[in-house]
Amino acid sequence: MNNAIYGIHHVTAITSDPQRNIDFYVNNLGLRFVKLTVNQDDPSSYHLYYGDELGRPGTILTFFHWPDAPKGHRGTSEVFATSFLIPKSSIHYWINRFTSKQIKFRGPYKRFDNEEVITFYDPDGLELELVAHKSAEDKDIHVWKEGPIPTEQAIRGFYSVTLSEEGYERTASVLIDELGFIPTHQDGSRFRYEIPSKESVSQKEDIGGANIVDVLCLPYIQQAIIGIGSVHHVAYRTPSDKQQKTLRHNIVRAGLNATPVIDRFYFHSVYFREPGGVLFEIATNPPGFTVDETAEDLGTHLVLPPWLEPIRRDLVEVLPPVRSPKKDEITK
Ligand code: ZN
Repeated sequence: MNNAIYGIHHVTAITSDPQRNIDFYVNNLGLRFVKLTVNQDDPSSYHLYYGDELGRPGTILTFFHWPDAPKGHRGTSEVFATSFLIPKSSIHYWINRFTSKQIKFRGPYKRFDNEEVITFYDPDGLELELVAHKSAEDKDIHVWKEGPIPTEQAIRGFYSVTLSEEGYERTASVLIDELGFIPTHQDGSRFRYEIPSKESVSQKEDIGGANIVDVLCLPYIQQAIIGIGSVHHVAYRTPSDKQQKTLRHNIVRAGLNATPVIDRFYFHSVYFREPGGVLFEIATNPPGFTVDETAEDLGTHLVLPPWLEPIRRDLVEVLPPVRSPKKDEITK
């Protein structure tokens, strides 16, 4: 059994409008804006990061700002929904909040035995869920305390992602054999896989949780077109470069086409496409977002990896100005 994956590291989606994106995730959902930087493969566009107070792996939602991308079309071979964990007692708080802010939602409805789910969409049409589950109760210590949501009600990082697939078997075998998930539940066309909790690990080493992948089997719909309002990829977290190397070795041995390790500055990444067509990434927990900003300053300035600093002035010229939610000023 592979023991090197601890759960979800981050989810990366595509937005058409960086300011509207910042306003939605910070002001409406209460996530911390932890990093304003550029897409390393396309530095003339932003890469926006949100998370808990430090953007710990397991809480990180990121966006590529690609205004010219096609509009995403939902279907198979994509991350169909991204789910955040909330306390069970906060359901009515969130329903009231969405109602007062005119955010459309469905639910709450039950999933499996012990979850209540609210489905909603961001301004680009990205499908999100709040999942109320008892595992939220002891997970309030890393919540961003300066946000607009009281700590008792705030989002506690990710709960799960849901993949849509034409068939579940080949995706399941990668989740189980290469990433260490185990099948735990099935309800109709929804198949659930979880990373067993690693009891001996300290909160400092890994926040725990965010360890569920659901596979929705949707054999009769078309393949998704990834674009604005779609998830681009989901990353799973591993604690060290050494464990990442072993995972990569095993993924390649299984016949999947993995990239070399790429230095993303805040973590190290390996990408591969699972057999159902969803882009997966293996990302290391270290070094994290305080590698180039203090914890206090996270998300308040445009930061660039060292190799892009020489062209900062050129980049600032082509990037649209955005306001930091914290200081209400132009960040560049
Ligand atoms: Zn990524």
